[in-house]
Amino acid sequence: MPIRVLPAEISNKIAAGEVVERPASVAKELLENAIDAGATEVRIEIEQGGRRLLRVSDNGCGIPAAEADLAFERHATSKLERIEDLYRVRTLGFRGEALASIAAVARVTLSTRARDEEVGTLIRLEGAQLAHRQPTARPPGTTLTVENLFFNTPARLKFMRADATEASHVARLATSYALAYPELRFQLENNGRLLLRTLGTGQLGEVLVSLYGLDVAEQMIELPRPSSADDGLVMVWGYVGGPALHRANRQELIFFVNRRWVQDSALAYAVSEAYRTLLPAGRYPMVVLNIEVPPEEVDVNIHPTKREVRFRQAHGVFVAVQRAVRGLLMAQRPVPAIQAPRSTGLVWERPGLPGLVYGPGLAHGVGTAPSPVDVEVRRTPDAPEAAAPAQDAPPERLPMLRVVGQIAQAFVVAEGPGGMYLIDQHAAHERVRYEELQAQRAAQGEVTQELLEPLMVEFDPAQAAQLEQHLDTLCELGLVVEPFGGTTFLVRRAPASLAGGADIGAAIAELLDAALQGGPEFAWEEQALITLSCHTAIRAGQTLSVPEMRDLIRQLERSQLPHTCPHGRPTMLHLSHAQLEREFGRR
Ligand code: ADP
Ligand code: MG
Repeated sequence: MPIRVLPAEISNKIAAGEVVERPASVAKELLENAIDAGATEVRIEIEQGGRRLLRVSDNGCGIPAAEADLAFERHATSKLERIEDLYRVRTLGFRGEALASIAAVARVTLSTRARDEEVGTLIRLEGAQLAHRQPTARPPGTTLTVENLFFNTPARLKFMRADATEASHVARLATSYALAYPELRFQLENNGRLLLRTLGTGQLGEVLVSLYGLDVAEQMIELPRPSSADDGLVMVWGYVGGPALHRANRQELIFFVNRRWVQDSALAYAVSEAYRTLLPAGRYPMVVLNIEVPPEEVDVNIHPTKREVRFRQAHGVFVAVQRAVRGLLMAQRPVPAIQAPRSTGLVWERPGLPGLVYGPGLAHGVGTAPSPVDVEVRRTPDAPEAAAPAQDAPPERLPMLRVVGQIAQAFVVAEGPGGMYLIDQHAAHERVRYEELQAQRAAQGEVTQELLEPLMVEFDPAQAAQLEQHLDTLCELGLVVEPFGGTTFLVRRAPASLAGGADIGAAIAELLDAALQGGPEFAWEEQALITLSCHTAIRAGQTLSVPEMRDLIRQLERSQLPHTCPHGRPTMLHLSHAQLEREFGRR
């Protein structure tokens, strides 16, 4: 084929592919334009996850009538004049690409009025072509309406997730910007229902309350903004979640660099390191951090959607972030002293898995807490054969066990015909709960129970958007949840075994987070059972009486798969009599 310059229509669509990935990316560009326009109020409306309609209205400076068409030209921007400006960008936008890209893949209506003009302008574009223009009466500011996103790019349309998922992404975005700009009033409506509203008082603490509810906000610790940078380079400030506040995913690690929302795995790592040993394995903290550096210290032009930035002195920035967070956490509470036990050389066996044995987890170096859950798995050549059932033997039931006692408020020591058993009380109870819930579900009948008082639970906007679409699924699982205005919901009924448990709200929140991570293949029912069983099980740290331990062991004995919890971790370790004798030199 001969070389040809592509017509604008095609090149715009190609460029749009980079900038406009999903409704939330459109929302991001429009939101940034509103902020750059000096708006104090921004309202976002979406319908059907933003695919049918996505509208952002602001009370910013507006676009003069003479420039309204120009805004949709590629590389048309009012934010850069000279190339040097690119190295000290103070606006969120500067590439002049967003509106052109959006107009290439959706039907776009712009209504705008500049502050010093009497009359506004209304423009409609179809496939990036001007289709209609008229003067309009409106207050100063801009409203951009984007309809039928990707109507002319069927390939992209196929990649769209369920409406609830797309709505959650928009909500996550709005949440982040609301946190970055506490002085602005934000509002987000999903299918006419208010998901998010902030007051614009300038107090980040107040935004936290509006977005996450008082319970969560109270557990966030303020990292105040210093008056100047110690090292002349970086200032770090915001809010840092206390160690009790942790989530199953990294989504609540929110960073702004010079008030630009960025996703940066190195920053996330720096923060995770600051929480080292303070959080359970696999859990992530909640932080909202502003990182302020001189504009020339950061390159914001490395990613088409400006989602990533590059620091000139990256190391210095990460060290500053880690220090600030760690310092604050240390000042709040002493780190729990964790001591690694001396290795005994004992080899613990995990019942039911041939050839796999557990050694105390000392391989992680001094200072890590070894626990039977994350002990190191080694394959030993001399694994005890007697205890190893054939690979495809039916799952082994537990023998009758005699409770000896509890250690570390986490493990039950028991004796059985085969030797000594060390049982993780939480994992074991999780297994019991899980099978109970499964059985109830299979039996249909009397599974749910009306709560004495409906439980009011507040979610964050992204969770709420997700929940709204899955109320039916939860209902099938015996959890009857109703919207109660905004992001608040009422739990009215719960499976009988949970109805007394206080942790239902946290369980639902965790399930929603997992669903947001999981995407379309997410197995709602299975995950719901696992999450509910986890949240209603006995926890580590709970002292158990001997009758309680006996009860737990009896229930575990009755389980179909007593050796693992529903997450697949072991519920128990076993030390056979033969091993004991060997260790003491009796054999
Ligand atoms: P960029 O933001 O990179 O300049 P855009 O394509 O997003 O590029 O917008 C093009 C131009 O349109 C902006 O530079 C700005 O002058 C104008 N504009 C867009 N949205 C708004 C708005 N909400 N209020 C005022 N002006 C706007
Ligand atoms: Mg822009």
